[in-house]
Amino acid sequence: MPRPCRIDGCPDAAARHKTACHRHRTRIRRYGDPHFTTWTVADETDIQIAVARRELPPGMTRLERRLVGEQLTRRGASATEIARIAGVTPRTVVRWRTTERKAA
Ligand SMILES: [Zn+2]
Repeated sequence: MPRPCRIDGCPDAAARHKTACHRHRTRIRRYGDPHFTTWTVADETDIQIAVARRELPPGMTRLERRLVGEQLTRRGASATEIARIAGVTPRTVVRWRTTERKAA
């Protein structure tokens, strides 16, 4: 019988001969934090720099890209320009805008 992952609340089984599941082991190895995901972490300073320079600093998380996109939208940047800056497709920018409008 595989043991459960040692991270509280994780429904997965631990990897063979290990104490945590594959997903949590990867997060710990990459980021030193089992709860880190690129969807939930954002650094406000990095976002401000990216918006001011209209250029993404290296290593921006997915959430940061999205927040940069939202701020540039408010400053009147086009979906095409935001897509280029954030490194996503224009379609993604349009989707971000739609989601944000619904949330507002
Ligand atoms: Zn786990």
